[in-house]
Amino acid sequence: MTKVIEVVENQVKLQKELQAAGFNAVLCGNCNTFLLHKIGDTKIDCLCGLTMDLSNCPDLWCEEDINNITEI
Ligand SMILES: [Zn+2]
Repeated sequence: MTKVIEVVENQVKLQKELQAAGFNAVLCGNCNTFLLHKIGDTKIDCLCGLTMDLSNCPDLWCEEDINNITEI
């Protein structure tokens, strides 16, 4: 069975590959909708009707998620 930390590490790795390809996956800082954007964008339109600053929309996966995993 795959461990949770292995899944998270792989997701973080894939997120980095996405970023290296010029794209990013984030969650809307207002409603948590999953959104894609190009690297370099500063704002993003969301389904909730808001135009969000990308600084307020966290990456879908980040290194912190690995650090936050506690093995069961
Ligand atoms: Zn939203």
